[in-house]
Amino acid sequence: MARRLPVLIDARGSRQANASHRLASAAPSDIRLRNRTAVMRALYPYDSHSRAELAKLTGMSKVSTSDVVAELLDDGLLVEGAYKTPHGPGKPSQLLRFNASSGAIVSIDLSDVTRLRGVVVDLSDKVMHRAEIALPHGGRLEPTEVIGLCQRLLDMCDVRVIGIAIATPGTVNDEGLILEAPNLGWVDMDLADGLHALIDCPVVVTNDADAAVFAEGYFGGGVSDMILVQIADGVGAGLLIDGNVVRGKGFTAGEIGHVVMSDGVRPCVCGKTGCLETIVSSPVLDAAVEERPDDAERIIARAGEELGRALAMPVALTNITHVVFSGPSRLVNRTMVEAAQSTIDLLTKSRFLDEVHVELSTIGEDAAMLGAAGMVLRRVLAVL
Ligand SMILES: [Zn+2]
Repeated sequence: MARRLPVLIDARGSRQANASHRLASAAPSDIRLRNRTAVMRALYPYDSHSRAELAKLTGMSKVSTSDVVAELLDDGLLVEGAYKTPHGPGKPSQLLRFNASSGAIVSIDLSDVTRLRGVVVDLSDKVMHRAEIALPHGGRLEPTEVIGLCQRLLDMCDVRVIGIAIATPGTVNDEGLILEAPNLGWVDMDLADGLHALIDCPVVVTNDADAAVFAEGYFGGGVSDMILVQIADGVGAGLLIDGNVVRGKGFTAGEIGHVVMSDGVRPCVCGKTGCLETIVSSPVLDAAVEERPDDAERIIARAGEELGRALAMPVALTNITHVVFSGPSRLVNRTMVEAAQSTIDLLTKSRFLDEVHVELSTIGEDAAMLGAAGMVLRRVLAVL
């Protein structure tokens, strides 16, 4: 069995945290981790290079490159493949590639009130196994159900598990403590303790919209600046700027669901009246469509207009050019996107502002789970 992988960066999992840590103390162990990261990033996820090419790409000496490669081969994170014949004279060199099947991540999404869903992904974030539990209608999600599903997914893993990821609605702090998740009825919920009791590995608990925008940025369209709006039981947004998720000082960046809209009239769970969530969340839209099935198209278009109105200001404020909608396809579809697009265009268009593109999530309903797993990849392997 390969040895346990060292965790490369701190609990925040951000590039900045990693960089400042390295600058503060360049101990031999830091240099070793930096070299490992450089080699893995050069190969991740599907590139192949020889040792000599890796030395050139990373700026490391040939000796250091060979040492790091030997260590990563020993860890199972790299594998040797075909030989490459040089154009000129010289020996053929063996190509190396990242071994995505050398580990797994278990990732669970808590944002759907009807079911608890989980996946096992490999180290390229590809889904290998799935499991889900139906939740009783209106029932409160118990932490034991999350831990139970996690155990089921762990039982499906036949390789080492490098981390567990949880995408949850609500506010989550840097330590992964769920400060408040009104839709789950949770306050100061610590899932990590129960999960650590199952397996000794890093646990990343993150807001579902933050996770989804991370996935969209790294595994979706490859856009590094975007707002992702998640329409589920509640409405939340994730903000990606320069490839980093913006979480805010109190970890509430993107909590747009409880901002009061001027034409909102319904009472909200938060105590206010007319929050965005009372106008465009899945349960609200589903109920409206159920009541007036012939009006479905118009109800969804109206929701798109409301979202466009809500997003026009942050779009102009940040110069973000991509807005992505994610949610159930019966509601979050072309009709919604087109209505939001024309509203944003109408409200923001000027020769000073860049064109804004409103799109559907390319990843779909797995986005939060894949993004949370991606955060484990960033934290444990630093490849993202
Ligand atoms: Zn509210």
